[in-house]
Formats: sequence, C-alpha cells, structure tokens
Amino acid sequence: MFVDKAKITIKAGDGGDGAVSFRREKYISAGGPDGGDGGKGGDIVFLVDDNFSTLIDFKYKKKYVADNGENGGPKNCFGKSAKDLIIKVPRGTVIKEAKTGRIMADLSGNEPVVLARGGKGGKGNANFATATRQIPRFAKPGLPGEEFEVILELKLIADVGLVGFPNVGKSTLISVVSSAKPKIANYHFTTLTPVLGVVSIEEGKSFVMADIPGLIEGASEGIGLGHEFLRHVERCRLIVHVLDVSGVEGRNPIDDFEIINAELKNFSEDLSKCPQIVAGNKCDMATGEQIEELRKYIESKGYKFFPISAATTQGTSELIYEISQVLDTLPPVKIYEPEPITIAQDDVNNKSFEVEVEDGIYYVDAKWLAPIIRTVNMDDYSSLQYFQRVLRNSGIIDKLLEMGIQENDTVNILGFEFEFIN
Ligand code: GDP
Ligand code: MG
Repeated sequence: MFVDKAKITIKAGDGGDGAVSFRREKYISAGGPDGGDGGKGGDIVFLVDDNFSTLIDFKYKKKYVADNGENGGPKNCFGKSAKDLIIKVPRGTVIKEAKTGRIMADLSGNEPVVLARGGKGGKGNANFATATRQIPRFAKPGLPGEEFEVILELKLIADVGLVGFPNVGKSTLISVVSSAKPKIANYHFTTLTPVLGVVSIEEGKSFVMADIPGLIEGASEGIGLGHEFLRHVERCRLIVHVLDVSGVEGRNPIDDFEIINAELKNFSEDLSKCPQIVAGNKCDMATGEQIEELRKYIESKGYKFFPISAATTQGTSELIYEISQVLDTLPPVKIYEPEPITIAQDDVNNKSFEVEVEDGIYYVDAKWLAPIIRTVNMDDYSSLQYFQRVLRNSGIIDKLLEMGIQENDTVNILGFEFEFIN
C-alpha cells in the first residue's frame, strides 16, 4: 500500500524537576542546600532515510513520545538528560502543524530537524542560596516538552512530472527513457503509486522524472485517483503533459489537454503556472493530419509540442533533449520554508496564568507562553514589542502592577528572567 499522508502526535520529553535537599554530614548540624538540577527532556527529531518511500509506518503508530529528563538528586546530583527520539521519514516529507496548517519543516535534505523541543530541567535548591536566604526550601519544576499534532505529507522530489489521462502512455514513456520499470497495461489506473525514474542525458548529467497515476476529470475535487497524487507534482520544475494523439480510446486530445489543465488550476494556482511541455504520444497509430492539427492547437496556446511514440521510442530523444535544455533555465526543486508561529489574539486572551512573588522576584506561570518565549529575540526591538504586547493583552502586566511591581523589578516567566519596564 502506498501511503503519502498521515497524522501523528509528537511529544518531546519534560524536563526533570530540581531537587530540594540539604547536606547531611556527621558532626555538621545544618548543612547547606545541595539539591541538583533536573535533566533536559528529549527532543523529537526528524531525519530523512532513503530506505523509506512511503509513510505507511505512521498509519499504525500514531504517537511518538520522547523520554523525560531525570529529576535532580541530593549531593548536587544532576538529573540525566533524556535521549532524543529520532523519527525517520522518506525524502520529501513536508510536516505541517495540524491545528494551524503552518509548515514546520520540509525533510528534503540530510540535516536532522528538531520539531518539538524537550523541556529544560528545573534548578535544584542549591542554586537559590543567597546571603539572606540560606535555607531555600524550594526548587524549580522541569518545563514541559513541546507537543504537536502534525500532518506528514510526502511530496516527491522530481524535476519533471508526467501528467495525463489514464492510458495515454505515461508509464511507457518513463520506462523507455529512464531506469524505472513501472507496470504498463492496456487498462486504466495501472499506475497506483508514483514512480520515480532517473533520466541520464550524458556523463554526469541527469534529471528525475515522476510518473504519477492518471488524472481524470474531477480529480481536484477528489474523484478518482488524481487529487491524492497531484501533490506529487507540486514541487516539479516542469510538467510534461502526455496526450494520446491517435484518439484510439475515442478521446479527443484537445479536450483532454484543456480538462487536465483546468484540473491543475483547480488544485493550485501555482501548479497551473508551472512550465509545461506537451508530448503527443502514440504517433505510430495517428495520421499526419491528427498530429498536425494537435500541434497547431498546442502551439497556438503557447506550448512546445513534441510528437512521439513511447512504444517505438520515436521522437523520445528529442523530447528528452528539450526537457534537459528547459530544466537548465529553471530554478531548483521547490523546498518549503518553515512558517513562523502566529498566535491568534483570541487564543492569547483565553489563556490563564498565575503570578507568585518570592524574594522580590515575580514568577509568572503560563505554559502557553513557552513557544513565544522560545522564539522571542531579546536583541530585536520589534520582537520585544511583540512580546510586550502579548503580556499586555493577556492581562499579565495588569496583574503584575496590581501586585505592586516596580520599575526594574525582576520578572521570571518559565525560567526566563528580565527587568520589568512599564
Ligand atoms: P498510462 O496509463 O498513461 O501510464 O499508460 P501506459 O503506459 O500504461 O500505456 C497504456 C497502453 O498504451 C498500453 O497498452 C501501452 O502499450 C500503450 N501505448 C503506450 N505508448 C504507446 C505508443 O506510443 N503507441 C502505441 N501504439 N501504444 C502505446
Ligand atoms: Mg501508468
């Protein structure tokens, strides 16, 4: 079974808690604090593995949880940090946050990508001894690890995508120009999974062609197989639109051409703007007039037309040569950039928080602020302003003022400290 979409939950490990402990030694009555810090929770890390070609594993296992950091212990024992959990995916897997649809990562390169960060360990009480507070009876709890529900989508990485109605000869074409050997048969929908083939032009020069299952009318509304598979041509640099010139199946290649282009446009505006070359196939069975009529039409629409016969390989090297020439002028395969976190104002307004004062430090507990704190850049004015705005809109600033905070007092939000400026 070919699976190219899956929804899973990922949860990074929580940080271990800091310990509260005091030295106990013979003959020493009141030992100082020696509670160690908790360890960091494990991250969730994604990595490309070329041994995988589908997302089938994620149909069965839905939840991925990294270990928590260990708690700190007495005698200044630090808790162990947990190991990262590495999730392997096929190349070309795009990861989106389910809740917002935001692109989090595009696993196309070889670099591991951290998608959910483990929580920091809490500080043990050994950190909190001061001249005026020699017996700190508290430690900090570990921070929670990030958790997301994510959608994995496989978007193949190919330079050229073949599109066309079923049975026009796409699989035959890829089988004669590349190393790929897909199933070919004279019935519709023989190709049920996309197939990639490497087409070699000359020593050291090649491109990747993708044969995707045939599109049929209504594909972009989810009829037939087309829609599911259109995402595999989304990254392609060039579309080769295959038509059956001979019309052996009682089809009209001009109608087919228009229907498929409408489908591409329906699916995505970007896809309809992708450069396109037209291959008129089955010329061995077509008359000269059929070929010329189609050529005239296609060229009048501004596309290049190549008459071929995949079965006899007639015209295929000209087509391949043209493809490679065009590819030389096109930008590389599209890689999706991660999109920043945006938090709706409503969300922020609904979030709760608690404030406690201890030794003049204002501790704010608001778990929902964690992702914002991680991304805020204290050296950047607009980033700081955004942070201020979140604090103000959520009522945290009002609450601090109500509790009597003064200018330059210290505020601690989830372990992150700064001076209060109103
Ligand atoms: P796909 O559904 O577009 O992948 O089409 P296939 O490659 O599976 O081909 C469908 C049928 O058309 C098969 O029976 C092929 O042998 C046949 N076919 C493909 N190309 C040609 C061609 O150039 N000439 C002729 N006569 N038949 C072809
Ligand atoms: Mg096929």
